[in-house]
Amino acid sequence: MSSVNPLKRINREISSFAKSKEKEIEELKERENFRREFIADVSHELKTPIFAAQGFVHTLLDGAINDKEVRKKFLKKAAKSLDALDLLVADILTISQIESGEIKMHFENFDMRGMCAEIIDQLDGKSEKKGVELKMSKKYKDPIIVRGDYRRIYQVMLNLISNAIKYTKNGGQAKISFKEIEDSKIRIMVTDNGRGIPESDISRIFERFYRVDKSRSREKGGTGLGLSIVKHILESHDSEIFVESEYKIGSTFYFDLNKANYIDKVDEGWEEEE
Ligand code: ADP
Repeated sequence: MSSVNPLKRINREISSFAKSKEKEIEELKERENFRREFIADVSHELKTPIFAAQGFVHTLLDGAINDKEVRKKFLKKAAKSLDALDLLVADILTISQIESGEIKMHFENFDMRGMCAEIIDQLDGKSEKKGVELKMSKKYKDPIIVRGDYRRIYQVMLNLISNAIKYTKNGGQAKISFKEIEDSKIRIMVTDNGRGIPESDISRIFERFYRVDKSRSREKGGTGLGLSIVKHILESHDSEIFVESEYKIGSTFYFDLNKANYIDKVDEGWEEEE
């Protein structure tokens, strides 16, 4: 009978305990770095609209308030900066909640076509004003029932379609289409023939606060957080966001979702086995 040397066993246990603690410390360090970078990025981003609003208000107080036309113009600009600040704070809150795992996903079955029709209705005014035609492919006439968190997938689609409109010139098009992937998944695609993304920027656009053209994105009311939020939401659906884009030609953003009937079938299968 072989007996294990107790000293060796204790040594092994100590070494494995030390390793697990080392890993924990590494993770804590990583989280702390992330938190520090996040706070630095957020403070930097918050400064822009605050600084702009401050500038307009102070100029008004320094005398511009006495001229009716100038007063109106500056108040409008200050209001625009405060609106941007409001959007930014909402996006920062969403991203910090998702990243810290505070937001729980509520999975349900819903109709993806119905959701897209609703979003088209919501963005109709915006696309019309911009002169961008917004449409959905007619290839699928029946509801496309998928499984996911309705509110969060709505947010994903709203971000992608808003971007398609935002980065496409007057006379352009933004289109939503679908494609079956195997039996189990449906691909959702948002295509535009807008400005496209330079190849050197493509790998970075999903990073928080990354914009290809910072000042133009801000001017268009962008927070630089939309795609980062999209990426996180899809990750919690075991999915991923992809983009194919050609500079000055256009872009297609796409992701896959599980079809609900496929999941039902699998669930039934499991029940039968029990
Ligand atoms: P933003 O609020 O600036 O739109 P996003 O995170 O949604 O931030 O997008 C990041 C950057 O990716 C944008 O600033 C823009 O440069 C680029 N981008 C996103 N969608 C498109 C698109 N459909 N066409 C061209 N560029 C895009």
